[in-house]
Amino acid sequence: MNPQLLFWVPATVRMSLLLLGAGILWFFFGPTIGLGVGLASVCLMVFIQLHYLYRLSGWLDNPDSEKLPDGWGAWTDIFSRLYRLRRHDEKNRTELTEWLARFRQAMSLLPDGVVIMDDVLFLEWCNPAAEKHLGLKNSRDKGMRVTNLIRNPDFMDYIILGRYEQPLTLSLRERKLIVQIIPFENRRQILVTHDVTESERIEMMRRDFIANASHELRTPLTVINGFLEIASSQANLDPQTRAAHLKLMTEQGHRMQNLVEDMLTLTRLESIDYPLRPERVVINNLLEQIVEEAKALSAGRHTITIAADGPDVRGSTEELRSTFSNLVSNAVRYTPEGGQIKLSWKMSKTGPQFAVQDNGIGISAEHITRLTERFYRVDKSRSRETQGTGLGLAIVKHVLLRHDAILSIESKPEHGSTFIVTFPKTAAVTDGIEYSGERAAVG
Ligand code: ADP
Repeated sequence: MNPQLLFWVPATVRMSLLLLGAGILWFFFGPTIGLGVGLASVCLMVFIQLHYLYRLSGWLDNPDSEKLPDGWGAWTDIFSRLYRLRRHDEKNRTELTEWLARFRQAMSLLPDGVVIMDDVLFLEWCNPAAEKHLGLKNSRDKGMRVTNLIRNPDFMDYIILGRYEQPLTLSLRERKLIVQIIPFENRRQILVTHDVTESERIEMMRRDFIANASHELRTPLTVINGFLEIASSQANLDPQTRAAHLKLMTEQGHRMQNLVEDMLTLTRLESIDYPLRPERVVINNLLEQIVEEAKALSAGRHTITIAADGPDVRGSTEELRSTFSNLVSNAVRYTPEGGQIKLSWKMSKTGPQFAVQDNGIGISAEHITRLTERFYRVDKSRSRETQGTGLGLAIVKHVLLRHDAILSIESKPEHGSTFIVTFPKTAAVTDGIEYSGERAAVG
């Protein structure tokens, strides 16, 4: 029914009954009683209305649907409609709170930073990623001007110029950020930040790698091309010179081949499509091969000894062979004639351990942390002289990562170096044998 009617019909009926009652009293008992009772009834009605108004005003101070008073007459309808409105409102509010909580959670999981500001750049809210990227603190900085919080000249210029359709690349707090301001609603703006530090680093590594690899390949190619030009322009070269040229070309060809093979190995080791397939690595057989190779490379110029008393390990035989061989061949190549190279394999407190100790040229401290970078060499000319590709220790690092093993390097210039590989204890295949860790010579 029409709410207007719902209100007016009972009110009119009630007023008519009152007037009728007063009229009847007047008729039977005279005007004094009739008017007196009529006035008293009107006063009672007014009092009832005031009472419910008072209760309504009390309820409005604390408008909880549960505490809504019961009414009488038209108030019953008013209160029940207020109750429905209040319930609807409470439901909307609960839904809104849930949405807000969900929105906040999604924003806090976002890897990109989001800062909400008003039209004059006063901070209203920011998510944890923005706090991390820009050094803000939502609870502390709320209501402050963003330009006072992010003190960076490039950011200031970006704000002054106001070319918000273009993102800005910002170096801030040792991070590289892509920042953009997006105006929304009438008087609000969002500042979005995207951290590109890692992708920039990878991109730089990729660029460096290509530049280094091209440079490494260019040198032997230049040598080969030079000799080929000589051979084609001078038909009657004497056989000795020709043989010397051919020898040098073959050497450079081998160098290029080694380089390409090492690059392919690195690519394979980094590929997720090339998972480690662990098997039992019979260490004694592996070490025997390594010692043979080292002796062949040294050609009697060094004393090579080995002490082995350790367990077999689980891993890739081929990858560990190349790792140990890299370390041993480095020891041979960077130790002058007459030097000593000691290999050892033992069960240490932390796990199975392979060590290569030499008394060669050694490495000064500032280079040690960078040795496993691709193409990093302490002395470029010496590395080339010794046929090094500059990728050996980078390969070692990747193989060891795949085996959860650690490489540690101790070295002193002019005194020699020790390269130690430590496997986790779980990698050992002991067959119940207790290893004392004391060394037993096997070769
Ligand atoms: P390379 O092919 O040049 O030997 P590596 O990655 O195997 O490349 O080694 C990187 C650099 O580490 C070498 O160029 C060399 O300067 C240094 N290095 C490695 N092993 C030794 C060692 N046993 N003694 C001294 N220097 C070493």
